[in-house]
Amino acid sequence: MHRENPENRTGPLRNGNPRGNPNLAPRCGAKTRGGCACRSPAMSNGRCRMHGGASTGARTEAGLGRVRAARTTHGGYSAESQAAMRRCAAFMAETRALLAAVRREAGGRTHAEPAVGRLSGGED
Ligand SMILES: [Zn+2]
Repeated sequence: MHRENPENRTGPLRNGNPRGNPNLAPRCGAKTRGGCACRSPAMSNGRCRMHGGASTGARTEAGLGRVRAARTTHGGYSAESQAAMRRCAAFMAETRALLAAVRREAGGRTHAEPAVGRLSGGED
């Protein structure tokens, strides 16, 4: 079987990597469990296939949505829930002020006396 002279080969390898001595590839250098530097060849990020580094998290909108859904327990403190609570509190304050004005005009005597007492301060 005839094999061509490897000295005559040019261009990248069939897997796309550049031709050259693989022993001269840059090394990972991460600290291993044994305490020494990792000697595996490094990828373009400077670490080997075992020490590629921690994930930096979701990037796409769909991935971020999955993270939010997984982290949301009941949604009671979500932005829209808090806005609804603020609207409700503003409505209650407005109603208390209105009832206080009605009570002042009536000289402290209204037909809605018990309800006014409950809504205007909570003294039962
Ligand atoms: Zn490594």
